[in-house]
Amino acid sequence: MTTHLVWFRADLRVNDNLALAAACRDPQARVIGLFIATPLQWREHHLAPRQAAWMQAHLHDLQRSLAEKGIPLTVLQVDDFAASVDALAAFCGQQRVDALFYNYQYELNERQRDAAVEKRLADGVVCQGFDDYVMLAPGSVTTGNHEMYKVFTPFSRAFLKRLQAHLPECVSAPAVRASGPLDDPEPFAPFHYPQRELDATLFPVGEKAALSRLRHFCRQSVADYERDRDYPAVDGTSRLSPWLAIGVLSPRQCLHRLLCEHPDALTGGQGAKWLNELLWREFYLHILAYWPALCRYKAFIPWTERVQWNQNDAQFAAWCEGKTGYPIVDAAMRQMNTTGWMHNRLRMITGSFLVKDLLIDWRRGERYFMSQLVDGMLAANNGGWQWVASTGHDAAPWFRIFNPTTQGERFDPQGDFVRQWLPELRHIPGKDVHQPWLWAQKQRVTLDYPQPIVEHKQARVATLAAYEAARAVTGSHDEKHRTGKPD
Ligand SMILES: Cc1cc2nc3c(=O)[nH]c(=O)nc-3n(C[C@H](O)[C@H](O)[C@H](O)COP(=O)(O)OP(=O)(O)OC[C@H]3O[C@@H](n4cnc5c(N)ncnc54)[C@H](O)[C@@H]3O)c2cc1C
Repeated sequence: MTTHLVWFRADLRVNDNLALAAACRDPQARVIGLFIATPLQWREHHLAPRQAAWMQAHLHDLQRSLAEKGIPLTVLQVDDFAASVDALAAFCGQQRVDALFYNYQYELNERQRDAAVEKRLADGVVCQGFDDYVMLAPGSVTTGNHEMYKVFTPFSRAFLKRLQAHLPECVSAPAVRASGPLDDPEPFAPFHYPQRELDATLFPVGEKAALSRLRHFCRQSVADYERDRDYPAVDGTSRLSPWLAIGVLSPRQCLHRLLCEHPDALTGGQGAKWLNELLWREFYLHILAYWPALCRYKAFIPWTERVQWNQNDAQFAAWCEGKTGYPIVDAAMRQMNTTGWMHNRLRMITGSFLVKDLLIDWRRGERYFMSQLVDGMLAANNGGWQWVASTGHDAAPWFRIFNPTTQGERFDPQGDFVRQWLPELRHIPGKDVHQPWLWAQKQRVTLDYPQPIVEHKQARVATLAAYEAARAVTGSHDEKHRTGKPD
């Protein structure tokens, strides 16, 4: 009997899992699963303890679902990726594995690890990888010159054309193996990683919960998405990112569910706006696969590396803690620090504030987000930060600087979101909450809330000057984009 091993990583589900489906195709094969936790590596990647807990909870769920199918899942724990190569090779030897099935990850360290595994197993284990984390494989949507798009709009147009011509299929969960279901699995040891509690009402654990949320969102809310998506006080977005990040849900499942409810979404009809956001996820993943330097904290636009950032630890700490004196920024940071999730509009506002009001290096913000987010995902996080910092692909222009007060007034017009997260401002009515000091002055009261740590107008001038100085270095203003081939 041949033995097939499925190595689970960012694909913690039984439905529409390309590697798992391929491993189970031969009904005679013995199929086993493995997950290898690498806490030291996670620490280096600034993985949020909340996301580690989220993965751990989903592994229990996956272990039970696989057992029902007759597939045992072993969870090992080693230090880092180098050790995981040894552990995997040893496991293959012990279990007499004939073929290894896994879904690709596109980050640099992960790719190097996978190359090392394939090399180590070359003598006797057949390895098969799959593009499962994306709708279309990186490298398959390119310009006429077979290069990766640097700008989102033409990328998304080409992507939609591909989808209109041929939709990527969803594969079913495997059938129960001939050997029958297994007994309830023994619980595996908790990860050697700081533990952080999850709010199960906000993000319930499990593949079933993710699928039911997807179904509900596509049926009830997607039609209003375009209207509601920018207002953090409204539950107007799917909040599916935590499940997508660790692969409890696949982008193909999102696509098919959307088309089931709104068949015109591919041609600009209802649901198209939400699909567009899923394509941003694809864009950033395709870019990351093409320019691995992005995984090394490199800016895409070279001249922006010359911006002289402020090393102001006190201001950075105030931003992290939600104590900048700008209510929308502080409410957003406290939402993330408490729940592990932040609304997209607020990720843009807080990111812009750190980089363009405090002039602090975007990489510090990127790392801090990663250390807090339950949906932390290098491609989207890096893409988002390089967008706000104007250092990346198709980013905000460098001279575009959000005004944090007017952003608050525009996207939280009644101040409800701010009041939800800043109890010290709960008594301030309506949109006055966005300028609490002005309100306090008029009312002749004192507030238990910090004064703004910078004055926006002055900060804006200083930031424009810093970017201008970086651009002005000889020859750099012509240098719009990094050209040439992938690193
Ligand atoms: C500074 C910054 C950092 C970010 N960090 C992350 C991150 O670590 N992980 C992450 O998944 N997203 C990140 N995003 C993108 C976006 O904010 C989140 O995906 C979104 O807020 C998740 O909420 P949702 O599931 O309700 O999204 P919806 O609006 O319902 O969108 C559906 C899905 O599309 C994808 N998506 C939506 N917007 C984007 C986008 N701009 N870029 C890439 N994918 C997108 C997500 O997978 C999301 O779940 C970041 C954005 C910024 C500006």
